[in-house]
Amino acid sequence: MQNPFDLSGKVAIVTGANTGIGQAIALSLAQAGADIAAVGRTPAEETVAKVRALGRKAEIVSADLSTIEPIQRVVDETLAKLGGLDILVNNAGIIRRADSVDFTEEDWDAVIDTNLKVLFFLCQAAGRHMLSQGAGKIVNIASLLSFQGGIRVPSYTASKSGVAGLTKLLANEWAAKGVNVNAIAPGYIATNNTAALQADEQRNRQIQERIPAGRWGEARDVGGAAVFLSSQAANYIHGHILAVDGGWLAR
Ligand code: NAP
Repeated sequence: MQNPFDLSGKVAIVTGANTGIGQAIALSLAQAGADIAAVGRTPAEETVAKVRALGRKAEIVSADLSTIEPIQRVVDETLAKLGGLDILVNNAGIIRRADSVDFTEEDWDAVIDTNLKVLFFLCQAAGRHMLSQGAGKIVNIASLLSFQGGIRVPSYTASKSGVAGLTKLLANEWAAKGVNVNAIAPGYIATNNTAALQADEQRNRQIQERIPAGRWGEARDVGGAAVFLSSQAANYIHGHILAVDGGWLAR
């Protein structure tokens, strides 16, 4: 019987694949059999080497995802270099922290552009290809702040709440056409993105005490969920935001 989580022969774009959650997702998808287009502004050489060591193909696609300018090229280059496009993982994202009374327009626009605008137009460009082949899986990386308000991160909360909404909207439009659009909401995962929180002794302790699992997540904790949502095991799952949070939202 075929393994329902097998991704052999599939090609996946993973944005922000050089580090953190994106790198872990790229490696998990490759372990499940997928070839990887590692998209980002910092060349994902380490990720590509690790994917190739697993016996899968991997290519770097250079793109600064702060504007929509490179988006069509990302899709075209993936198709040219890897011969297909079956999975899109929209992982690249940034965060800016400041009190809302002092929050700048620059910090608003930068976060909304990368986390929300570029994410949507990459869904659109990859989605056009997937719709034309009648199959595809899109996994957007949302956040606990797709459900909660957060503090001192207004543009991040707005962007990730928007990601949850767009995930559901795209699922409504594309579910009957063979394209699954879902999201993962990681909890507190130890990466560059959360370095400031980890370094703040008091916040770090408060966070750990509130997580039912009693620990920060590791980037690899998110990888299995990405494999699941990218696989045929998730064929009837549309518009779902899957929390991978050590139980945070259950509390
Ligand atoms: P990270 O280590 O800071 O990684 C962010 C990734 O996004 C990096 O690869 C980064 O590339 C890339 N990126 C940012 N701006 C980009 C741009 N303009 N063009 C291309 N790539 C860009 O953080 P992470 O924790 O792994 O975050 C990955 C995703 O998970 C983000 O969407 C984040 O919001 C989300 N998330 C994280 C947590 C957590 O606890 N860590 C929780 C919820 C959601 P560079 O290395 O070149 O900057």
